[in-house]
Amino acid sequence: MPKIAQLTAARTIVIHDRPPLIAKENEAIIGVETAGVCGTDLALFSGDYPVPLPLVCGHEFVGRVQSIGEGVDNRWLGRRVTAEINNTCKAYNRSPLCQACQIGMSAHCQQRTVTGIIHHDGAFAEEVTVAQGTLHEIPDGMESTVAALTEPLAAALQTFEMSPVTGKETVVVIGPGRLGVLIVFVAALKGCRVISVSRSEAKRRRSLAFGASQALSPEQACDGVKEITGGLGADIVVDATGQPNGITQALSLVRPRGIISVKTTCGLPAQGLDMTKLVVDEIRLQGSRCGPFGLALKILEEHQKKLKTLITSTRPLAEAQQALESATQEDKVLLRMD
Ligand SMILES: [Zn+2]
Ligand SMILES: [Zn+2]
Repeated sequence: MPKIAQLTAARTIVIHDRPPLIAKENEAIIGVETAGVCGTDLALFSGDYPVPLPLVCGHEFVGRVQSIGEGVDNRWLGRRVTAEINNTCKAYNRSPLCQACQIGMSAHCQQRTVTGIIHHDGAFAEEVTVAQGTLHEIPDGMESTVAALTEPLAAALQTFEMSPVTGKETVVVIGPGRLGVLIVFVAALKGCRVISVSRSEAKRRRSLAFGASQALSPEQACDGVKEITGGLGADIVVDATGQPNGITQALSLVRPRGIISVKTTCGLPAQGLDMTKLVVDEIRLQGSRCGPFGLALKILEEHQKKLKTLITSTRPLAEAQQALESATQEDKVLLRMD
């Protein structure tokens, strides 16, 4: 029977067998090859992001379509794929569509389940079910480990879908960790001047290799960003710290009428946010979540070698507990099903 790594309580993962999944209408079952651990998984694991348990986490994955339900094009069978995380009424081909899907906001589908997060078992397992409309084929020649970065890269791209840039902007990324470094990379690809802020020297150095022109410690950040921006502050400050006070740091670095782009999903409320400064400086707060998979796959294909260096370790599914524990200390941890 297929194995799953199930989160049964905070910080507790139990490996057990589950009866084989059966595809219902407009669903595909994917035999998972590789799944990535991200900050959201860590928040689910710690219990800071409370969801109904038990749950199989894992929403960044690659595998092969092994069976399909009625209504799914049988050309998908056997293809190597990844999948978007929102199983929406559009992705299930339901009719009528919910209001959000009708107005083209499917990521916010009112009837969605979210693979590995909300009411939908994920990919820390040998098999996962997804709605057919979430599927994306992996280009031939792309390694599965690299393809497992599609979802986080798409999430990084979404930062600039919600806050478009022309390339003239100064973008500060606080917390260039597993997601933040991808945001540094994307902002630099778009031609922006990128400054990363991190306590870790290794992360500062790495962000320079991924396109930042400056990398500062939190202590240097305020003066450093002011100096670079003629005293004004940065056009966009991305909070990718994964910490509830990241937004406060961001507020000290953003220019008047600038944008704070929030990427932290730690599940905890912001601490000590100076609302008055937010109002007086006319700052825009912009969240962003899931992004364009097609574009992410194209960028991954072009920059495979470089992006692969972000993967810090790979463990078998049986070590899911250890993988989640060590992922708090390292960057991209992958699980492999073998
Ligand atoms: Zn994720
Ligand atoms: Zn919908």
